[in-house]
Amino acid sequence: MGGVSEVDGRKRALICNIDGDGSGVTEWVDAVLELIERHPVVKFDVGAITAYLDGTLRAKQTSLRRELFRKLYGLENVEVASHSHSHPTKWKSFDSAHYLPGPWSYKKQVQYSANVIDDELCPANKQTRIFLLTGDCKPRLGAIRAIQARGLIPFNGVVGRNWNGIDGGIGYIPYDEYRKPGGMRRWLQQAPHDLMYTRYTREIRGEHGHPLGYEAKYPDAYHGVLDWFKVHRWLPVHVYFHFYCAASAETYAAVGDVLDWVSERDLQPMFLSEYAAAVEAELRK
Ligand SMILES: [Zn+2]
Repeated sequence: MGGVSEVDGRKRALICNIDGDGSGVTEWVDAVLELIERHPVVKFDVGAITAYLDGTLRAKQTSLRRELFRKLYGLENVEVASHSHSHPTKWKSFDSAHYLPGPWSYKKQVQYSANVIDDELCPANKQTRIFLLTGDCKPRLGAIRAIQARGLIPFNGVVGRNWNGIDGGIGYIPYDEYRKPGGMRRWLQQAPHDLMYTRYTREIRGEHGHPLGYEAKYPDAYHGVLDWFKVHRWLPVHVYFHFYCAASAETYAAVGDVLDWVSERDLQPMFLSEYAAAVEAELRK
């Protein structure tokens, strides 16, 4: 019901992405892997932060994490995404903070990250398709160019933007700030993610000072996104969460409940690349 199905006779799209935040904790990667396996109907885009996986941290658990990501990317209902190399928090300046060690350059954050994922973590039949923007998700045009030049689709950020007047009803609208030079697009998230509902109160930092998790004020509040899906019927159903969810039993259970709910609905599951292609096709009409 709703959204796309009402406009053009197709089912409402279901997209789902998991950003790499929190994937420095091996048990959480394991727990999220289980969530994905438990919901075979849903198509997941999973973003790796390569500094957790390429030996940058020299952590003992790197090889275990690599093994888990290989397993994850081997699953049929998973599309491969990069969530950068070291997670820049601001995209406007190269000297801005990032969570993990590593030079702040498009080359390192985009190309290198995707190369590591393709060469070391992907099965033979897959490669990185999506770049999930990090931090403030406000890339300059140069960043979008670098992402597209590497053959990736830029995604994330700016939820809840009012698209009325651009296209009232179709519901899968791209961010078109970058449309003019070269027709480049950066794609928006279509619903608030888990952290927006749980309201963190304190960061929990790991051995290198990077955030490992959050103490949340409302750990079970992600259930609220179901109301968002019901109200915003012109938008695709977008389930967006982080590996952090496994830090709290309540948040983890809430994400599981949301995935159960969407699995039982008559929706059209799509990888983010399929969703972007569908929108492009729509815009060409
Ligand atoms: Zn992130």
